[in-house]
Amino acid sequence: MRVYNTLTKKIEDFIPFEEGKVRMYTCGPTVYDYAHIGNLRTYIFEDILEKSLKYIGYEVYRVMNITDVGHLTSDGDTGEDKMAKGALRAGKTVKETAEYYTEAFFKDCEKLNIKKPAVVSPASEHIDTYIKMITKLLDEGFAYESNGNIYFDISKAKDYYRLSGKNPEDLLVGARDSVEEDLSKKNPADFALWFTTSKFQNQEMKWDSPWGVGYPGWHIECSGISGKYLGEYLDIHCGGVDNIFPHHTNEIAQSEAYFGHKWCNYWMHGEYLNDATGKMSKSKGEFLTVSLLEEKGYDPLAYRYYCLGSHYRNPLTFTWEGLDGAANAYKKLKTRIKNLDRTPDLNENKTDAYQVRFKEAIKNDLNTSTMMTLVYDVLKDEELSDFSKLYLMDSFDKVLGLNLIEEEAEVDEELEKEILAKIEERNQAKKDKDYAKADEIRNSLLEKGIKLIDSREGTTYELI
Ligand code: AMP
Ligand code: ZN
Repeated sequence: MRVYNTLTKKIEDFIPFEEGKVRMYTCGPTVYDYAHIGNLRTYIFEDILEKSLKYIGYEVYRVMNITDVGHLTSDGDTGEDKMAKGALRAGKTVKETAEYYTEAFFKDCEKLNIKKPAVVSPASEHIDTYIKMITKLLDEGFAYESNGNIYFDISKAKDYYRLSGKNPEDLLVGARDSVEEDLSKKNPADFALWFTTSKFQNQEMKWDSPWGVGYPGWHIECSGISGKYLGEYLDIHCGGVDNIFPHHTNEIAQSEAYFGHKWCNYWMHGEYLNDATGKMSKSKGEFLTVSLLEEKGYDPLAYRYYCLGSHYRNPLTFTWEGLDGAANAYKKLKTRIKNLDRTPDLNENKTDAYQVRFKEAIKNDLNTSTMMTLVYDVLKDEELSDFSKLYLMDSFDKVLGLNLIEEEAEVDEELEKEILAKIEERNQAKKDKDYAKADEIRNSLLEKGIKLIDSREGTTYELI
């Protein structure tokens, strides 16, 4: 497989540390609000990546955090605490807020066929891990205490700016402009590993530490959680492009200082979903959610289809016309597949060849639009039996996750018995000329989604 690596800024062959196995870490949501469909674009990309790796034969072990502590509005050490802000808005505690939005996030993921990673863990449950890491970083001179907080000294990191390719001079100007910046730091770009109460006196979630009661910075949580579950060597780390700096840059600095060697080989980033005003973001207040799409009558999977049409490294500007186009195409595609004849007849050579082409699209830095083109090529192929087409749709859908094959609805036996008894009762009512009762039975079944069909041969039913 070849992937674009943000670290080297090149498309490279993917070679995991351990043959056949991939250790993958993806940054989870900050649970102070609903996820918007921009966030979910990133999670769709990561889901496609995980499923693609499995499709081409890797075993994937994927870990994700839930950010429920430490993330400030600036992504750095300035601004308000996002969780405290969300809790205040919702009139709940931080813990309740985190639980509520975590559940909402996974409901959205389920609707979009985004698989839950093998490990999902809230940042607030690993305080001992961060304390252990920070203690070692202090002992080895990578970190220092200032103004009650513990900071990472970026001058000690090996090539600190290599992931972002940023210019340190530009960043210094930005940092100097920030009035809230802690001026006692050695370098304005040094970042907090641990805040004591000096930052927010009213912080709800805080813990004892060797440096006073406080809470961890946002970046240390991902280094801590990935190290805990995935060990010292990571194959792939993902997130949206906004995570490149400072979040992932800081994760590299901390983890490599802590482990004493290179930590993660491949960094993959999904580009933004934009709206008419630029990057969709929670802080703008108004944003699109999966529930909103549903309220407007869209199938959430039409949004997944929409995302698959563009490469994960290209920005995508959301428009309602674009979503309408995707929704129509998706509906047509499903109908086309539904109408295929299910009689078994597999053209093995041809299906193998298509699967090879699908794998090639995967291996070409996750080319989802080529994958989608293949779906249509298969359906158009007159030499392929319908059964072979269904076989391929089922196979491709392991990656695409578009529910291309709907199972034929199976009637459960109990329900079937109940319906037949009702039909019998209605027949009797009709014989007794009790038409009111007959109608009532028909209507009550209809309310449950069971439509009776009368014909000369008798009464049958259909689930609607
Ligand atoms: P957050 O909940 O803010 O921590 O973000 C969760 C994920 O969504 C991160 O990986 C971000 O990089 C990503 N993200 C944030 N905004 C967008 C956007 N407009 N488009 C795509 N991904 C985004
Ligand atoms: Zn992270």
